[in-house]
Amino acid sequence: MPRTGNVTNDNDYEKFRLMSRLLNHENELTTEEHLALNDEFGAHNYLPLPVVYERTKGVWAWDIDGNKYLDFLSAYSSQNAGYCHPKIVKALCDTAKHLGVPSRAFLSETQGPFTAELAEFCQKDMVLLMNTGAEAVETAIKTARLWGYKTKGVPEGKAEIIVMDGNFHGRTTTIVGFSSEKLYKDGFGPFTPGFVSVPYGDDRALYNAITPNTVAILFEPIQGEAGIKVPPDGYLQNIRDMCDGDNVLMIADEIQVGLGRTGYRFACDHEEVVPDLYILGKALGGGLYPVSAVVGDKDTLGLFIPGQHGSTFGANPIACAVGRAYLRVYHEEDLAYRSKNAGEYFMKKLREINSPYIKEIRGRGLLIGVELDRAARPFCEALKELGLLCKETHGNIIRLAPPLIITQKQIDWAIKRIKKVLEA
Ligand SMILES: *Cc1c(COP(=O)(O)O)cnc(C)c1O
Repeated sequence: MPRTGNVTNDNDYEKFRLMSRLLNHENELTTEEHLALNDEFGAHNYLPLPVVYERTKGVWAWDIDGNKYLDFLSAYSSQNAGYCHPKIVKALCDTAKHLGVPSRAFLSETQGPFTAELAEFCQKDMVLLMNTGAEAVETAIKTARLWGYKTKGVPEGKAEIIVMDGNFHGRTTTIVGFSSEKLYKDGFGPFTPGFVSVPYGDDRALYNAITPNTVAILFEPIQGEAGIKVPPDGYLQNIRDMCDGDNVLMIADEIQVGLGRTGYRFACDHEEVVPDLYILGKALGGGLYPVSAVVGDKDTLGLFIPGQHGSTFGANPIACAVGRAYLRVYHEEDLAYRSKNAGEYFMKKLREINSPYIKEIRGRGLLIGVELDRAARPFCEALKELGLLCKETHGNIIRLAPPLIITQKQIDWAIKRIKKVLEA
């Protein structure tokens, strides 16, 4: 809109002031101004706590006002190795300096080695690399359908996939279509057919939902976004048995819970259960870069032929270098073992907190949910004031998921603050 004389509209003035601050004083922008820029020019699909990150290292984050925080969100379990791990940063920088993205029309020198190392890590035959978690979930869905038509002999167009109530598998239209969360799906239909949802943790419901056209059961071994829901013991083995009995693929979404987070290589390892397909993401990118994958055997992933599926950036040299570096760090620093030990200590200390608000504390390894009898957001805001960052999920649950490299001393530091806020 052309400016005519005096600015009369407050909103226009604010926008003008922000833009001139951005142009002339970018390094001096305040937290309020950053929030305003984001509000004015960014779609409002998130409601962030008012913290503007400037620097991160290990378990710590510093905001632009110089406040230091212990980060207990870890970017939803992406920061397993800790922020800016030197070996992962080095892998990223070394590669970026000499090798750009060639697309998948050519190979790069990092792709083969990473593919082999990831398959080996998962003890599976093959890997299909993508970028984001949602893309990997979509890839697993396509794999299951392809297998259903080509191998199981399901009539074309009839494949069914069973999912769980309370699931979170990402944000594409197909995926939100089988979500049970109104906020995630309302307003985005029509949706992809072919999905049936059953209560999480309920063997009988699952058994009854299987039909001759069922090609896969897609589940999270622990439901993270639903509020750290740990299934009953034996549930994963029961899924495995039903899949074996009825010739159905078992697909574990380990994007949030895999790669060491729950004290095991995979959350499925807790019951020593091996799914047909692993879906990986988040921590696989070392906290620096989007890397995701579907990992399985030749009988499923081997069905793809050239041109059936792809991604320009999938398996790019930087992604592969970063993924390799994460796997190396995972072994060298014993991340799963540390998560198990630190998680047990943290859980014990949390249970000692005597708070009238706590309904339940649950989780595995360093993925812990504290369910309150009221809204969790004010507690997260109070913790932020004390230097501990975390985020509520489903209104009344505080998710506690620090980087897996956290020390006992740092846990004690956190416990002191959590206790203070929850006992207040
Ligand atoms: C985060 C997450 C996804 C989606 O990953 P994006 O990278 O955000 O697309 C899928 N499944 C689970 C279990 C997740 O936690």
